[in-house]
Amino acid sequence: MSEFDYDLFVIGAGSGGVRAARMARQHGAGKVAIAEEFRYGGTCVIRGCVPKKLFVYASEFPKYFKLAEDFGWSVGETTFSWESLIANKDKEIDRLEGIYGRILGNAGVETISDRAEFVDAHTLRLVNSGKTVTARTILIATGGTPYVPDDIEGYELGITSNEAFHLDSLPQRVVIAGGGYIACEFAQIFNGMGSKVTQVYRGSPVLRGFDMDVREHVHKEIEMSGVEIKTNTVFKRIEQLEDGSKRVHLTNGEHIDTDVVMYAIGRVPAVAGLGLDAAGVEIDDKGAVRVDEYSKTSVDHIYAVGDVTNRVNLTPVAIREGAAFAATVYGDTPTAFDHDDIASAVFTQPPVGSVGLSEEDARKKHASVDVYKTSFRPMKQTLGDQQSRMLMKLVVEGETQRVLGVHIVGPDAPEMIQLAAIAVKAGLTKDQYDAACAVHPTSAEELVTMKEKWTPPEQ
Ligand code: NDP
Repeated sequence: MSEFDYDLFVIGAGSGGVRAARMARQHGAGKVAIAEEFRYGGTCVIRGCVPKKLFVYASEFPKYFKLAEDFGWSVGETTFSWESLIANKDKEIDRLEGIYGRILGNAGVETISDRAEFVDAHTLRLVNSGKTVTARTILIATGGTPYVPDDIEGYELGITSNEAFHLDSLPQRVVIAGGGYIACEFAQIFNGMGSKVTQVYRGSPVLRGFDMDVREHVHKEIEMSGVEIKTNTVFKRIEQLEDGSKRVHLTNGEHIDTDVVMYAIGRVPAVAGLGLDAAGVEIDDKGAVRVDEYSKTSVDHIYAVGDVTNRVNLTPVAIREGAAFAATVYGDTPTAFDHDDIASAVFTQPPVGSVGLSEEDARKKHASVDVYKTSFRPMKQTLGDQQSRMLMKLVVEGETQRVLGVHIVGPDAPEMIQLAAIAVKAGLTKDQYDAACAVHPTSAEELVTMKEKWTPPEQ
């Protein structure tokens, strides 16, 4: 009999944990269990990517109604029911959670609906049942949690994305703090559904870390869609007013009255109370579990994947890290997931698709950089007066002509960028892009038809 209750114990049944547990079993791991304190599927499925995208779809309809008229349709009177949206969304999330449970069951993984905390490096306590279990190998896949600025007076009056998916009704007014993925996506979700939205960002333009052309383009599009963005300022304090409203005081002296205040100012690794000290697992200065390229922590038999390690905090990355862990530990194939050139999408309206280096980063790394870019009104909008524009940009290494980055803002950008990511990851050159014949009439054809190098104004 094994000296441990389990060969592998996974803490957290989100994208990374579920994939790791399942693949470990496929590679021949013996007894595998996964503990989840909330719901199977993790942030992405339960209160992140999936419900967010359903909300994005819901919020886009008013634009389509207008567009339909440009094409000769009369849409008539429209109404929106937040309650129906929430009920339908909840039904779909329940369905997906059920699938996750079945996937684990079919793989022979024992599911434990409880919170697990370390007692020592091989022992975990299940908080609700009070039981302790031991495991030969332990995987920490607890994800992240929204950062709440508890140093601000009245901070408790605000919500995070966790609660935004379950509001009782659509708020008339929303103030959102932040200029990253979540802030920008939710600003336009609420705006599209009919709320009056103000976004408060400490910098300018939004989406720091993305290519500057993308940032400027998206910033303008968000404003054009009706969201007011207050830049270079942050929340100072939040006050409860007698009529139920909240008053947000900003550091620039202004104040905004609102129904809902939402923080989208980053997420932090979910390590609180896990007992990492008791296990000897080290964390870094941001609270993330420190791991090597094989996702191994400072303790030989304890690994960590996904947002809790704060590498690239995206669902598909957690999944790949989970699979690489399983191949390394149970598949006899040491596998380090390559974190370079990971494509990502921001579901703003229009959305962003981006892979590889921004122009700014490319210029820091390479002596010579060529840029190709174009901006135009997408064909679907040309019959009416919608002013939204598409942006396509290629960042190319001057000497080798290798395409280092592709950046797209516009309808279907997230779909396009998945394909562009194959070419960037494969290290293809601009000539090889151009050798592919265009598909016409599309927006994507610009990726293989941009011939004129862009010249910076100062040259
Ligand atoms: P981000 O890191 O994207 O953005 C955080 C924002 O909050 C930034 O604008 C940042 O400003 C600002 N900020 C940080 N700290 C403070 C502070 N103390 N006061 C005021 N503003 C502050 O985080 P999100 O919360 O939007 O999302 C978390 C992560 O989740 C993302 O990084 C991404 O990895 C993932 N995600 C991915 C999505 C997708 O793939 N579509 C969708 C949603 C989330 P500054 O720019 O100056 O640093």
